[in-house]
Amino acid sequence: MAKLAAAPLSEFVGRIWDEEIVPQLVDYIRIPNKSPNFDPDWDKHGYMEQAVQQLSGWAREKIKALPGANMTIERAAGRTPLILIEVPGQRDETVLLYGHLDKQPEMTGWADGKGPWIPVIEGDKLYGRGGADDGYALFGALAALLALKEQKVAHARAVIVIEASEESGSPDLPHHMDVLADRIGSPSLVVCLDSGCGDYDRLWLTTSLRGMAGGALRVDILDEGVHSGDASGVVPSSFRILRQLLSRLDDESTGAVVAELHAPIPADRVAQARVAAEALGDQVWKKFPFVGGAKPTSDDLVELILNRTWRPALSVTGLDGAPQPQNAGNVLRPFTTAQLSMRLPPTLDAIKAGERIKQILEADAPYGARVTYANREPGTGWNAPETAPWLMDALEDASRAAWGQKMAMMGEGGSIPFMAMLGEKFPRAQFVVTGVLGPNSNAHGPNEFLHIPTAKRVTETVARVLAAHAAI
Ligand SMILES: [Zn+2]
Repeated sequence: MAKLAAAPLSEFVGRIWDEEIVPQLVDYIRIPNKSPNFDPDWDKHGYMEQAVQQLSGWAREKIKALPGANMTIERAAGRTPLILIEVPGQRDETVLLYGHLDKQPEMTGWADGKGPWIPVIEGDKLYGRGGADDGYALFGALAALLALKEQKVAHARAVIVIEASEESGSPDLPHHMDVLADRIGSPSLVVCLDSGCGDYDRLWLTTSLRGMAGGALRVDILDEGVHSGDASGVVPSSFRILRQLLSRLDDESTGAVVAELHAPIPADRVAQARVAAEALGDQVWKKFPFVGGAKPTSDDLVELILNRTWRPALSVTGLDGAPQPQNAGNVLRPFTTAQLSMRLPPTLDAIKAGERIKQILEADAPYGARVTYANREPGTGWNAPETAPWLMDALEDASRAAWGQKMAMMGEGGSIPFMAMLGEKFPRAQFVVTGVLGPNSNAHGPNEFLHIPTAKRVTETVARVLAAHAAI
């Protein structure tokens, strides 16, 4: 078999992205295939099926160039479908490439002329929901295999898994994985294209992911709303009780979360955070769209990185029980509900953490209010095993070749539930977790975009890693 040549690789990858993948992603962005948590009627609406048909339709054509390759769409009653592509290899090992095709909901705040389901190309960026998170994954993974095929470069047997419940915490994935256990086998390398990058100037390897324990906290104090002039001062406000309860989880002046939801931070991760802070500088916080004059939680960049990747943090992501301000009369409302999102350290058991959060919130309800907390799909985080020397070399080569800079390593603040599952199942596997979610790409928020040159470079990186894996 041949050795991978750099110029033809970037030429092939550039061409397939420009001619095929970008137009495919433009069509894909138009489909509002929200993840089941955000569209409980996803099956009836049929958007998920539309996305599956589009992506699998492209893949079906492309795998014709890969002898022996096959694709199936896995289905199970009440569960989201999953696309599985198997490509025979020249080496008796398996590499698993993972991505997802379900999307986050719309969010408000899109710029004029842009919107979640409106694809817009501006310069190097393709705007719209789901292009970067994570529609490009199937295209990137398959394009990398096609690039190797074109140069007759060996790779291991490859299995591409594209699921459709990731943004809901991957509830359907364990079922599919059980059914597919024989076909997936025991991968020695896992490539996950659903992560972030600190900037667009180098390859970023994700070394850890935070876990997540979310849920709805509801405080009921009355059976129905009453005149606030009549009742306030006698009936406690459900919102004030909610504030009180939230203060049991985090310190409202610093954001520091209770000690029992922390975990020790390994020394190598602290050292890597220092290097990442050096590379990123103020971009660690300036990448976020702060209003003029606003500041981050600390002025220490290393602390900010560790806060974002290894420490728990609470966000209130939804509120119920209150009208829009313009419709709000002088009413002491009967209840308030807050949707909580607690990010957790990579090594903390999310199920136990979720149970603990429930205990903390439901214990000794102030004023005897009715307080309920409903956990939603907790997901444990992930800390990468030590990267093998061959992989380190391959990644450094890829970063220098595609970006012209040394690679950097950093934890990510988000969660990919599947990585924890795989890490547990295949403790000896090597992991390449990377992605295109860089500064301002804003997955989950408004104005999400895919940085096309980065997507091309990540695709090249995958090809290089697959070639190196087959040559060990
Ligand atoms: Zn994603």
